[in-house]
Amino acid sequence: MEKNQIVELEITDLSYEAMGVAHYEGLTVFVNNALPGETVKAKILKVKKRFAFAKIEKILKESPDRINVKLNQWVQTGLASLAHIKYDKQLEFKRNQVVNLLKKAHLDGVKVNETLPSPEQTGYRNKAQVPVREVNGQLEIGFFRRHSHDLVPLTNFFTTDPEIDRVLVATRDILRKYEVPAYDEIHHKGEVRYLDVRRSKANGKLMVILVCLHKDFPQLPKVAAEISQIPEISSVILNYNPKKTNVILGRNDYVVLGEDHLIDKIGDVEFRISPKSFFQINSLQTPRLYDLAIKKADLKANDVVVDAYSGIGTIGLSVAKHVKAVRGMETIREAVEDANANAKLNGIENAQYVTGKAEDVMPRWASEGLKTDVIFVDPPRKGLTPEFINAAAATKPKRIVYISCNPATQIRDLQLLQEKGYHFDEISPVDMFPQTPHVESVTVLERTEE
Ligand code: SAH
Repeated sequence: MEKNQIVELEITDLSYEAMGVAHYEGLTVFVNNALPGETVKAKILKVKKRFAFAKIEKILKESPDRINVKLNQWVQTGLASLAHIKYDKQLEFKRNQVVNLLKKAHLDGVKVNETLPSPEQTGYRNKAQVPVREVNGQLEIGFFRRHSHDLVPLTNFFTTDPEIDRVLVATRDILRKYEVPAYDEIHHKGEVRYLDVRRSKANGKLMVILVCLHKDFPQLPKVAAEISQIPEISSVILNYNPKKTNVILGRNDYVVLGEDHLIDKIGDVEFRISPKSFFQINSLQTPRLYDLAIKKADLKANDVVVDAYSGIGTIGLSVAKHVKAVRGMETIREAVEDANANAKLNGIENAQYVTGKAEDVMPRWASEGLKTDVIFVDPPRKGLTPEFINAAAATKPKRIVYISCNPATQIRDLQLLQEKGYHFDEISPVDMFPQTPHVESVTVLERTEE
């Protein structure tokens, strides 16, 4: 097999990145956007020792699960790489990810529930971070083509709140009007690198963050003033990112106009959110995720609860009024400040958050003799560390509720927790990110009485 060769392939499976999988002359071939059950004429793009990549030239037999995508760019850019699959099949795809990972780990006995569907399947995101670049002599917003930094101009981002799209486009037009240069990645010059726009579902207010190469630029006062005139804008922030890096946000934020935070709500708890703080992006699905996690926790009025990887305290503060005490930790200082401010904002006096790595703070608490009843963990993709797991188990919680955005590391950690005397018998996938391959999952571990 060689590059540019045209081959006929039968797609038998979907990879975890949602590429069609076929087998040809002993090679595994990954075909962009092809679906199981389809027969395609494909062009080979790249050949490695044991696998190859290909793209569809023509679909010879189409899957009944395929739907027409209004804009091909959504799929091409990876903004919504599952958009060509019917929603119920997307849910099945996510459940299967978990099933397959369990099988690999020889945990076939664990029950995997149906994926909890998202109330909104498009327009669900309360935040968008979109690159700004010059394309054909004009400043554009859009998304990078998959595996590249070629900007594909877009005005409809499909998975984001349409109100956010409206503000992104209006801001783009203001930047064009004042001839603000887009960031030029190759020469590391220009000005605006990204637009980051967030919207509170609770009150409709929006925050616009201009991610810039410099702290200031000549047109900034006029640009900010005009952005603040867009209906419902409550803050214009400049994020200063002078580095040559793919990381979107720089360390420092400057409020140019308006507030330094947004206010949103989950259930009946109010949250203040700073630009640096993590906040769940699917506003309508988040309370359903938390409800599921909290139900599994089976909390009692006398419980001591830990909210690990707490962000702005959304999980701990949602349960604080029903338990004795909540303690949480998180690495981002601004998020911890938000968490403690959020406790006050909601009249909660039994919750306390500290800045630090979970793998450092938990061992400290354990050595101080802390005893816990329920620990919630909600780590980033890399999951927990053995240090955290040992210390968490040493505080003897009855239950550990594990919320994960990466089932592979979750299952790895569940096995480590099993060795510490905790058992689990089911995992519930929750769809937080429709149209994308991201899988969120929740499980509860119970201490096995010795
Ligand atoms: N539970 C929160 C946040 C989950 S996202 C919510 O539902 O909104 C994961 C959080 O873990 C982020 O806020 C991130 O800043 C934080 N984090 C990342 N690495 C960490 C570590 N080693 N220790 C503690 N927190 C960490």
